Amino acid sequence: MAETVPHTDPAVLDTDVETVRGVGERRAEPLRKVGVKTVGDLFRYYPRDYLDRTTITPIRQIVEGMGKITVVGTVTSTSFVPGRGKGRFEIRVTDEDGGTLKCVWFRGAQYIQRLYRKGELYAFHGKAEKYGSQFSMAHPESDALSDERVALATGRILPVYRGTAALEKVGLVNRTFRKLIYELFKTHGRAIPEVLPEAVRQQHGLIDGNVALRAVHFPRDAAERGRARLRLKFEEFFFLQLLLALTKGRQEKRAGVVLDGLGPTARAFLDALPFALTGAQQRVLDTIARDTASGHQMNRLVQGDVGSGKTVVGIAAMLMAVDAGRQAAFMAPTEILTEQHDATIRRYLEPLGVQVRLLIGGQRKALRDEILAEIADGTAHVVVGTHAIIEDKVAFQNLGLAVVDEQHRFGVVQRARMFKKGQRPHVLMMTATPIPRSLAMTAYGDLDVSAIDELPAGRKPIDTRVYPESRREEMLDFVTRQLREGRQAYVVYPLVEESEAETLADVKDAENGAAELAEALRPYTVELVHGRMLAYEKDEAMERFKSREADVLVATTVIEVGVDVPNATVMVIEHAERFGLAQLHQLRGRVGRGADQSYCFLMAGYKRTADATERLQAMEDTTDGFEISEIDLRLRGAGDFFGTRQSGLPDLKIADIVRDAEILEIAREAAFALAEADPQLAAPEHAEMRAHFARTAPRSLGFARVG
Ligand code: ADP
Ligand code: MG
Repeated sequence: MAETVPHTDPAVLDTDVETVRGVGERRAEPLRKVGVKTVGDLFRYYPRDYLDRTTITPIRQIVEGMGKITVVGTVTSTSFVPGRGKGRFEIRVTDEDGGTLKCVWFRGAQYIQRLYRKGELYAFHGKAEKYGSQFSMAHPESDALSDERVALATGRILPVYRGTAALEKVGLVNRTFRKLIYELFKTHGRAIPEVLPEAVRQQHGLIDGNVALRAVHFPRDAAERGRARLRLKFEEFFFLQLLLALTKGRQEKRAGVVLDGLGPTARAFLDALPFALTGAQQRVLDTIARDTASGHQMNRLVQGDVGSGKTVVGIAAMLMAVDAGRQAAFMAPTEILTEQHDATIRRYLEPLGVQVRLLIGGQRKALRDEILAEIADGTAHVVVGTHAIIEDKVAFQNLGLAVVDEQHRFGVVQRARMFKKGQRPHVLMMTATPIPRSLAMTAYGDLDVSAIDELPAGRKPIDTRVYPESRREEMLDFVTRQLREGRQAYVVYPLVEESEAETLADVKDAENGAAELAEALRPYTVELVHGRMLAYEKDEAMERFKSREADVLVATTVIEVGVDVPNATVMVIEHAERFGLAQLHQLRGRVGRGADQSYCFLMAGYKRTADATERLQAMEDTTDGFEISEIDLRLRGAGDFFGTRQSGLPDLKIADIVRDAEILEIAREAAFALAEADPQLAAPEHAEMRAHFARTAPRSLGFARVG
């Protein structure tokens, strides 16, 4: 194949994958399921891995705990073993060095046995586990290599594609992918345009797009593959960032209500606080004042670790709107948290003559109607609520600014609706989930982000200890001593099932725990809250804890965010190995809010995964939210980081936000510079780029923020 090729019409890239020779209707179906809908998508069905001498493990060198490995060998025997269920299928594999490995299938044995032939060469990919003296792999992925025996023996690199059962069923296995894509380059290779402008390629030393695409599938050697992958990762980040840059550019131009900084009410509020703002709080407030006075709509995310004091910043921002004769809203993710914010906000604002209204689900209709009327006619200055606030029925008279607390708990859609309320209010989002810089650049690349990166003075790092069950007595003694000194404690139980709603089993767990504790800690009093209690019951229990009537609060994870009881100095987390790192950090943040030294006990069984061990270790090692989130991101991967698909993180095909953070940063700079210089992408040298952007960007628009 020639290195550079003359151009043909790139429109062919948009034609249905079904039209590719060797695909057809039957194979197109499972291909679409893995995101390959067009000819262009097939070109970009990048190998998940490569097979060459360096990636193959000799069977004799297998040891325990290697994780997923690839072995290549000849099948020397096959056997179907009838038994319970549908039986199992086993094969024996021998490699070049004479090592032997067993591969076994317990599911689909009937069907699988047709796929392997004695004497043929295959690659197997999976985890090898030791049984007796021998290693065996259960349900490995595999790749028939007999046709490629020579290629492999002569040191060629073979691409390995992501397979699914549905793809396999229609014969789309590695071998077919290699052939299909090889043929595809022959027929349509010339249609692939160079989508990165020459100047960008030159500046960053990137190879030709066409060459890169070919080499990523069929690299001559590792060096060429490296150059190809670099170029394609850059390209992927570049277009993502271009989308963000253009979206942000448009938003910045959008007209917004003009507020004029801290007016009399805002000043009165700040003056009445029993503490001075931290430097970081002050800085963020100044920024918000500047944003909201600019004549453009503010679209800002404030990140601040638990306890950094985001609430007062949110309140002061709302008062900027109120002082300008506008309404403000404060939206929180749960009812408990909303009610707590409502109480705090009322305590501060009612003495200043500001009318505060609460809007949550389950309010009596008469009351709700009254509140809705007051929101509509402007009687209500500040509305505190759950996402009930963004329902269509809620019409503000003149909403000027909306605060979205703990925004990571809201989906993109919900946030979008907030932006659309009234005459496009300024939006201030707050999050206690510090997001590593690399992720923030992608997830929030179109927002302005500021950080409250300083805790109020006098806070001491929380002393954190992982305790096994055998040290429960010690933990209880410790808690008792703290209670004796007048302090309070939380004990948190995880949800047994990973579901939004609590199950009866969850409640049972917490109930039993509460009963046992009440016994062990007598005469101290224990209060229980869980998600299945009625709202007023929860309130009453929380109130008894806040007023120090109760010494210990046992809870399921309902107290996860925002609860503020400075006298509580001990947090005990039961079954800590079951919690995610971000959640552990959030929970721990419930203590350490006053001047006293606080403690966190992570009660964990010995039976835990390697990841769980790392999470617990990280909790002992650091209380810095940013460090925690870096570790969390590394452990979980970007896609999982927010725990939900709604986060709207884009689907990246080759680049990885964590591992390729450096490339991301460079691509981002390049994209933002280009968007600034040519916001319409109208320059002639940007024609191919513009066409590619138009073709691919709309698919990722779900992730671009709001209109
Ligand atoms: P978060 O950022 O986690 O939402 P909060 O806004 O709930 O934190 O604040 C945590 C606690 O710190 C509250 O009790 C609040 O009154 C207090 N606080 C906020 N700012 C300061 C400050 N500058 N100095 C001392 N205490 C503060
Ligand atoms: Mg908060």
